[in-house]
Amino acid sequence: MYKKRFDNRKFDESRPIEATISVVENATGSAHFSLGNTKVIAAIEGPKTLHPRRIQDPERGLVRCTYDMMSFSVDDRKRPGPSRREIEIGLVMKNALQPFVLIKEFPKTVVDVYTEVYQADAGTRCASICAASLALADAGVPMRDLVASVSVGKVGDKIVLDLTKKEEDYEEGATDIPISMSGRTKEISHLQLDGCITLDEFKKALDVGEKGCQEIYELQKKVLKEKYGGV
Ligand code: ADP
Repeated sequence: MYKKRFDNRKFDESRPIEATISVVENATGSAHFSLGNTKVIAAIEGPKTLHPRRIQDPERGLVRCTYDMMSFSVDDRKRPGPSRREIEIGLVMKNALQPFVLIKEFPKTVVDVYTEVYQADAGTRCASICAASLALADAGVPMRDLVASVSVGKVGDKIVLDLTKKEEDYEEGATDIPISMSGRTKEISHLQLDGCITLDEFKKALDVGEKGCQEIYELQKKVLKEKYGGV
């Protein structure tokens, strides 16, 4: 039985969330996003002409995501360079974000989204998606909504929001469900499930995840409003 969270949070409470935009001077747009000890920088390059020309689409642009976790971001030194996990997370990010980017407005081009995790304590794909969505908005890339992302799941017998690495590794069992959801329209563009969960528990987890995403969305809107006015 998981009676109390390791870090004393309520079961439906996320870790402290912080967001800042325009943190990388040479990028078209950028953001820093943290969920507790999970910290990410996202930077955008483009839209720029896609090369080679034969892969250009005359009707739409492309969103390309590169996810990286630095060697010192975890306790055991992580091998540098893109692993299968990092390549997969880049694709997960693209699938989570691209449905909300108005790619028909920049044909033949590519928007490169780079995310760098420099401190990891689980939920790095979610924090990367949140940072990337903010960075895209900061870059002025046309979008129909912002995307917020958080992990929900089951630790022992409890449904919890925003699992830490220690919770993911809980010895009596843990289920991790990263979810990405558009802020205004609440469309889910990404959901993964690692572990076991009943249908009733899954429905409860989705509700908790929606609440978590909405909290992040409010912060995303706030930081954009502070710099650019109405969002
Ligand atoms: P996410 O970070 O999105 O939850 P995973 O479930 O793959 O993705 O990873 C969970 C956590 O495990 C990471 O946030 C990080 O804290 C840790 N981790 C991932 N890869 C490594 C690695 N190669 N070495 C050490 N720790 C790692």
